[in-house]
Amino acid sequence: MPRPQKCRRIHFEPQILYFKPAGIPLTKLEEVTLTLEEFEAIRLKDLEGITQDDASKAMDISQPTFHRLLLSARRKVAEALVLGKAIRVNGGNYKMVVTGERVFRCFDCKNEWMESYGTERPQKCPDCGSVNIRRSPSDRGPSKGHGYGGREKRGFQV
Ligand SMILES: [Zn+2]
Repeated sequence: MPRPQKCRRIHFEPQILYFKPAGIPLTKLEEVTLTLEEFEAIRLKDLEGITQDDASKAMDISQPTFHRLLLSARRKVAEALVLGKAIRVNGGNYKMVVTGERVFRCFDCKNEWMESYGTERPQKCPDCGSVNIRRSPSDRGPSKGHGYGGREKRGFQV
């Protein structure tokens, strides 16, 4: 049985999910599909300019995994630019992190859940009842200054 894939953290939900070269009829158009994780890797590294180390922490994945995502994302974007393909942003396995909420993690069952700011700090894990819980260190986004809280939304899988 395959192990369920670990969810990656995404701090930005793209508004535009389809990019199409001008002047090519739809019937002739080929497309590449960027997963949201790949999109996020490019955003963090190439747009925000943060280090791979910080970017992989922000996404809660290992640095080699981040590196693989980034290379795959760049290759797809290059392919679209050079060969005139459309880019579809879609799918992947991710959790959306939304400013304004906090992510807590249980160290016994590895459960993660969210609490809004302004609510009381949770006393125990809602899943297993353990008190061995902590604010998840990975719910802070890469931006400087203000910490991200995290509301988690399960992504869809392709
Ligand atoms: Zn637990």
